Amino acid sequence: MSQASGGTICITCGKEKATFKCGGCSQEFCFNHLGDHKQELSKQFDEVELNRDLFRQTLTDQTDKPQKHPLIQQIDTWERDSINKIRQKAEEARQVVLTHINGSIRQIESRLNQLTDQLRQSREENDFFETDLQRWNYDLTQLKEELTKPSNINLHQDATPLITRISIDVASCKSASLNELKIGVSARWVQNGITVAGGYDRGNGLNQLLNPWGLCVDDDQTVDGQR
Ligand SMILES: [Zn+2]
Ligand SMILES: [Zn+2]
Repeated sequence: MSQASGGTICITCGKEKATFKCGGCSQEFCFNHLGDHKQELSKQFDEVELNRDLFRQTLTDQTDKPQKHPLIQQIDTWERDSINKIRQKAEEARQVVLTHINGSIRQIESRLNQLTDQLRQSREENDFFETDLQRWNYDLTQLKEELTKPSNINLHQDATPLITRISIDVASCKSASLNELKIGVSARWVQNGITVAGGYDRGNGLNQLLNPWGLCVDDDQTVDGQR
């Protein structure tokens, strides 16, 4: 193939030919590879459309099932995890109490048996004074207390919370998309307003805008671009 005199290098085949510059990427292509390049762009366009369709479906699904929103699911997970933590701690505590309460109950039982023997004996012999009655009453009260509040087991609540607290912050500003935003002809703007975003190229820095979607007017009359 004859080489075009004074041709430039095609970025695809690396040959020096008559080339055409792509306005988008500013790269030089020979005639054949310019076609390939266009096809490649067309393929990428298809992918954008495909992604758009997929996202449309996701959006429809979300609208149909609001409960499936990732934020709701995060709350669900927090709820489940928190309940599980509490259940697990409660179960551990129950097991410890049950293990030790059995020993405590056996002791109470044997002391109650002793008391019963004393009572039976005294009844048979009809031999008791006021002091005996007082002592037995005292012993019985002690045993009752020991049953409901065993002296060797203490339940106390830790000051450290077992679960984390969650809270939801919602920005209070009313938002409007740029398309819907109608600013009256007679609207007056504060003349000494400070530009906090924009004027520093495109980007996502705090003072930059990247395809702003709307304006957010806070209650204190400041205007933000929504990104
Ligand atoms: Zn080429
Ligand atoms: Zn290009």
